[in-house]
Amino acid sequence: MKTDEFLEWSEKAARWGANYRRDVRDLPVRAQTSPGDIAKQIAPQPPEHGESMDKIFADFETIIMPGMTHWQHPRFFAYFPANAAPVSAVAEYLVTALAAQCMLWQTSPAATELETAMIGWLRDALGLPAMFTGSIQDSASSATLNAVLVMRERALGWKGNTEGLGGQKPIRIYTTNQVHTSIDRAIWVSGIGSANLVRIPTSGDSRGMDAKALDAAIRSDLESGYLPAGVIACTGGTSIGAFDDIAAVVRVAHAHGLYVHVDAAWAGSAMICPEFRHFWAGVEEADSIVFNPHKWLGAHFDCSIQFIRSPEDLVRTLAIQPEYLKTSGKDGFINYSEWSVPLGRRFRALKLWFLLRYHGLEGLRAMIRNHVRWAKKVERALAEDSRFEILTKPFLSLFTFRPLKAEGTTDDAHVQAFLDAINNDGRIYLTQTRVERALVIRFQAGQFDMTKADADTAIEVLKEFAGRFAEEQIRG
Ligand SMILES: *Cc1c(COP(=O)(O)O)cnc(C)c1O
Repeated sequence: MKTDEFLEWSEKAARWGANYRRDVRDLPVRAQTSPGDIAKQIAPQPPEHGESMDKIFADFETIIMPGMTHWQHPRFFAYFPANAAPVSAVAEYLVTALAAQCMLWQTSPAATELETAMIGWLRDALGLPAMFTGSIQDSASSATLNAVLVMRERALGWKGNTEGLGGQKPIRIYTTNQVHTSIDRAIWVSGIGSANLVRIPTSGDSRGMDAKALDAAIRSDLESGYLPAGVIACTGGTSIGAFDDIAAVVRVAHAHGLYVHVDAAWAGSAMICPEFRHFWAGVEEADSIVFNPHKWLGAHFDCSIQFIRSPEDLVRTLAIQPEYLKTSGKDGFINYSEWSVPLGRRFRALKLWFLLRYHGLEGLRAMIRNHVRWAKKVERALAEDSRFEILTKPFLSLFTFRPLKAEGTTDDAHVQAFLDAINNDGRIYLTQTRVERALVIRFQAGQFDMTKADADTAIEVLKEFAGRFAEEQIRG
C-alpha cells in the first residue's frame, strides 16, 4: 500500500471510528446474529490476487459489523466493562502506526521508560506505597500466572524451572470459591494441579476468606507433608464482587512465609477514589496486585497492571538471556520482557499517558463515583418493586437480582427466559451468574460514556419486561 492510499484509508478509518462512537448508542448492545451467520459470508479461500480497499471496507461494514457486540455502548451492563476512552483509542492509532515490538529497553527506550513512569503514576493514584514497582501485562490472567510461578519457585528454592515438580512435595496454594477462573488456569499451567488449589471457606456478605480457616488449612497441610506456597486473595470477585479482608489474609500468610497475590482486576480502578480503599485495607503488605485499567479506568484493551514488591523474584523466575537478547552495555536498564511469560510486548504505556493526562484523576474519579451511584439507583428501583428480588447488594457498581413470577417465586428457566428477552430487545445488555446455586442476573454500571439517563433506561426496560412476563403468565 502506497503512502497516499495508506493516508486515505487511515483517515477513513478514523472518521468511521469517530462516527461509530457517536452513533453506537442507537445500536442493539449485543450482536443479534445466530451462530454461523457471519462465517457463511466469509470466502472459503483467500484470494489469489489483491482486492480493492473499497470492496474490503464495504465487506467490513456489511459482513462484520452486524456480528459485533458493542462494548463501548453506554448501556453495556454485562460482564465487566472494557472501556476504551476515545483519547486512549487515539493513542492506540499511533501505537498501531508505529508498530514497535517493545520487548527490551533498546527496542524502544521510550516504551520502557514511559511504562516505568506510568506504573509510578498509577501506584500513587491507587494510594499504594512507593516500594511497589510493576509492569504492564496483556491480561490479569498473565499477571496471576506470573505470581503463581513466583510462589512455586520461591517455595521450591528456585529449582522448579530446572528440576520440574517430580519428586517434590506437592505445592499448595490457597484461595476461595469466589475468585476468577484465571486462578484455576494459572494453577494448571504452572503444573501445581487443581487438587492442590485449596478453597478456604468464606463468610459474611463480602464472602471473604475466613482467615482462621486459612491458618488451620496451612497448619494441617504442613503436618501432612505438603509445601504451602502462596495465597490468592481478591478484591471484587467477578461473579458478585466478593472481597477478602486483605489485612487478615496477609497476616496469616506472612506468618507462614507465604506469598500473597491480590486479584483486583476490575475493582482496582475504583481505588483512585480514597473512599473505596477500605475495601482492600492491608493491600500495601501484599506481594503482588493485579488491576486492569482496560476494564473500568478507560485504557484501550489490553492493559493490565501487575504491581510487585520484589521484581528480583519475578525476574529470577522468568528471565532468560540467550545471546541474541543480550543488550550490550545497557545493563541496569529494565527489559520488561523478563517480567512476563510472552517475550514480545506491545507499546501499552502510551494510552495510559494520554488517558491520565487528558481526563486527569479527578475526571476519572467522577466517572467511577457516578457509576457507583447509578448502580445503587437501579438496585433501589428493583428492590422497591415486588416483581424483583435482590440477591447481592451493590459492591461498588455491581449487584445481582432476579425476576419473580406472579406468585413471588422464581426458577432458573424463568430467569433465563427473562434475560434472553432483554438481550434480544437490545436496549440494554446483561449477563448471568449463580448465587448459592440459583441463576441470577448481574448488573454492573461502568461504561465510560454512560449517563444517568442510561440508568433510567435500564430501570424502564427491566420494569417493562417484568410487566410483559406478568401478562403472559396471566394469559398462560
Ligand atoms: C476480568 C477479571 C479477570 C481476568 O482478566 P483478564 O485480563 O481478561 O485476564 C481476573 N480476575 C477478575 C476479578 C476479573 O474481573
